[in-house]
Amino acid sequence: MLDKIKSAWFEFLSYFVPERVTYEVEGACKRCGKCCNYMYSVDTYTEKEFKIMQFIFPAYRRFYIKGRDEEGNLIFACKLVTKDGLCSDYKHRLRMCKNYPAKKIFYPAKLHEGCGYRVKTKRFSDYVNKT
Ligand code: SF4
Ligand code: SF4
Repeated sequence: MLDKIKSAWFEFLSYFVPERVTYEVEGACKRCGKCCNYMYSVDTYTEKEFKIMQFIFPAYRRFYIKGRDEEGNLIFACKLVTKDGLCSDYKHRLRMCKNYPAKKIFYPAKLHEGCGYRVKTKRFSDYVNKT
């Protein structure tokens, strides 16, 4: 009986073991401006949530809702991007703009088509073989 409980407990814990895969981003920006014109938020699903977010973070007032994709997710854009795809306030751009795209992530990233960066999958064996 104890073995069965132990087994069930370890089975349960196994669902929380992180996958041995990470993703790294490499490359360089081509200055196309797509990431300033088409953005997603991982935790903003409605216009009301977006307004609350702008209230809490006034710096986000530079963003506006551009529409929804075919799955109903909100698409945002920045008011400060020029027609040429450049930032009109580059010196004061947000930290998230400076850090985009994050260099190391733990889930597959989706970059814009034609973006100068690319996502490189790294498996546990890649780290082992490196040492
Ligand atoms: S989509 Fe990629 S290449 Fe285009 S501006 Fe953004 S980071 Fe640069
Ligand atoms: S602040 Fe500049 S870099 Fe950031 S999203 Fe707007 S246009 Fe792009």
